Amino acid sequence: MTGEEAEATHRHVTWSVGRRTADIVFRDPRRFGGVTPYRSHAALLEAWDLELGPDGLTVTAEQLTHQLSGKRAVKAALLDQAVVAGVGNIYADESLHLAGIDPRTRCSRLRPQRVAELAEAIRTILMRAVTHGGSTLRDYRAGNGTRGNAQQLHAVYGRDGEPCMACGAVLRGARLAGRATVWCAGCQRRA
Ligand SMILES: [Zn+2]
Repeated sequence: MTGEEAEATHRHVTWSVGRRTADIVFRDPRRFGGVTPYRSHAALLEAWDLELGPDGLTVTAEQLTHQLSGKRAVKAALLDQAVVAGVGNIYADESLHLAGIDPRTRCSRLRPQRVAELAEAIRTILMRAVTHGGSTLRDYRAGNGTRGNAQQLHAVYGRDGEPCMACGAVLRGARLAGRATVWCAGCQRRA
């Protein structure tokens, strides 16, 4: 496949701007995205408020405490965009490892101090990923076509069976909330 052909794949929508001096392209190989028209900016913000939790880049301990409740596993909760927005499978695993929390821990069992540590870990992991241009595993590219390199920093994601970089224990893998999940039994605790 030539570079031009690769560029042309997964283009779902192309908007022509001005006198075709520029195009805005919605390109989404993973098909997780979507395009939804709103009648006004206010209507868009209103919909976001209903559908999305606080932004993971700035989520506070207070906000996360309010959002995490019930018996479901903390990993499942983090993947729910209504709980915290912007955390996907990779960064959920990385945040839980940094915070030292077992992904199977029930939300209701997390003490306030642990939730505060998790909020800080989410902010740290997401900011680091943004700084490194995201994680290019297969086909992710930034808007300007460049590859991200945050995948080089992954401590657990994709490392099932390898030694933990922090403690040396063999990393465990399982499916949780329908997604591949990797964690360290040595440094991630249940409560
Ligand atoms: Zn470890």
